Amino acid sequence: MVRNQYDVIVVGGGIAGCFAAATAAAEGIDVVQLERKPREQGGFIACGDAIKSPRDPQNYPGPIDMDAIADDEAVLVDNNIDQIEYWDEELGVRKVLPYKDSSNVVDRYEFGQRLLEQAADCGVEQHYDTVVNEVTQNGQVTGVKAVRDGEPVTYECDVLIDAAGAQSILQDMVSFEDLDTPGEPTFEVPHYTHFGSAYREIIETEQPVEYHNAIVGKPLEEMGYIWYFPRTPTQINVGLGFQMNKEPIPLADRLRRDIEHRHEYQGATVAERFGNTNKLGAAIALRRPLDSMVAPGYLATGGAAGTTHPITGKGIRGAAYSGYSAGRAATQAIEDGDTSEAGLWEHNRWLYREHGEAAKLASWDAYNVAASTLDVNTLRAVAALLPEAEIREIVGTSTEIDSLKSKLLVGTGVLKNFVSEYRKDSFETLGMSKRDLLESIRNVRKTRNHVASYQQQYEAYPADPSTFDTWLAERDRIDQTFYDDLGIPPSEQKY
Ligand SMILES: Cc1cc2nc3c(=O)[nH]c(=O)nc-3n(C[C@H](O)[C@H](O)[C@H](O)COP(=O)(O)OP(=O)(O)OC[C@H]3O[C@@H](n4cnc5c(N)ncnc54)[C@H](O)[C@@H]3O)c2cc1C
Repeated sequence: MVRNQYDVIVVGGGIAGCFAAATAAAEGIDVVQLERKPREQGGFIACGDAIKSPRDPQNYPGPIDMDAIADDEAVLVDNNIDQIEYWDEELGVRKVLPYKDSSNVVDRYEFGQRLLEQAADCGVEQHYDTVVNEVTQNGQVTGVKAVRDGEPVTYECDVLIDAAGAQSILQDMVSFEDLDTPGEPTFEVPHYTHFGSAYREIIETEQPVEYHNAIVGKPLEEMGYIWYFPRTPTQINVGLGFQMNKEPIPLADRLRRDIEHRHEYQGATVAERFGNTNKLGAAIALRRPLDSMVAPGYLATGGAAGTTHPITGKGIRGAAYSGYSAGRAATQAIEDGDTSEAGLWEHNRWLYREHGEAAKLASWDAYNVAASTLDVNTLRAVAALLPEAEIREIVGTSTEIDSLKSKLLVGTGVLKNFVSEYRKDSFETLGMSKRDLLESIRNVRKTRNHVASYQQQYEAYPADPSTFDTWLAERDRIDQTFYDDLGIPPSEQKY
């Protein structure tokens, strides 16, 4: 059995793994990155391929050169997206939200390959065909056991970075309660209902689609949505996802049912990659980022830490900045000689307080919780009636609506819109009364206040673990106030 000793082990060759590994290696840390896939399939990951502002260093901090990646035409295949469209065809609704920030659709495989190359250039040692199947610990996490090219291998490290994606298997392997922490371990192990399941195909059409400059979303039964994200005018990433706390949907069949009636997909074919049709599915985190992402000798990042937008499921950006954060915190802890929970706490602090995007994701999750209380038809009606500015805020494409004044204006807008757009026949189709609909809209408005409370609480995230329990008790109190306000019974409470 081969033994290997490194400062840092990163499990996962995805976005979070590459950002984490590159960040630590660029600081002179000895890093090995373990990926179960072969080298040539690295980065071949189920994704809708939509990426926001790829050149913004706030989104993609650290040594990975995103400008070089964005300049690469094989990666940034559609540089032309300037709107988000929401369609509810049954209700005759088509909302167009101009996309202020630059948005793009990438070839996710080429993107992933460039990230792996850049991580290697930063000095990361990469072991492919390496499946991690055990985590070793002794008061703190000390390494992993894996099978590499069919042979068992043991790796030892000071810090293990878990970048193994949503529903990371590593979190089942660590006994968090057996690690040395001053009190209860702070690391939050997520529940399976906090995830969704998503599937996509790359479809080649005979003619350009008319929505080639837009990313399109449509509601789906069971709190899900279908997307059409054009990579090029004739190559469309078409996919769908749903939440795991709802009845499962046979994803591939449901997708076929959607596209077989659409004129632009008549005669279309599924693109190929590695000699197979390009169809992929995976789990997706649809929850707030973990309360704490660290344990002695261990950090979680990306999908494994829940840094995905809890409503749209977009997680490329969150994986990048949280990967950077993990690499940075691991480096500091190793340099300080303290890889305890407190020594690695900087990862939590930076994400919630300094960078701040994790605080926004955690707050927006309240909309996901509120939406889960509505049946799908009510949700469709609410989405149809909400003013575009408010939808923009909920899906996080604008940060403009921050002041209390503008919040009130948006709130009034909901009702104005309701009065002017209410079409009796449409909502009779959905089988609901005007009163129920108004009540649901009121709940969305109420949620906005709770979002603000969450935001304030996450911005006050503790700078070290000593006050975490007090902070958590207050956050749990906000949860309870929110559940009570919306009348969510204990059996249906998300956390
Ligand atoms: C169908 C679908 C569509 C999506 N669409 C979008 C979108 O349009 N835009 C967007 O921003 N986000 C989207 N997302 C979310 C986004 O893809 C994820 O948030 C992002 O990939 C998370 O990156 P990650 O590096 O944390 O994990 P991943 O990309 O999942 O990478 C994890 C890596 O770890 C490896 N690994 C796992 N377990 C082991 C093990 N035991 N041993 C060794 N290696 C292991 C895996 O092989 C994988 O390479 C979508 C997700 C899905 C499933």
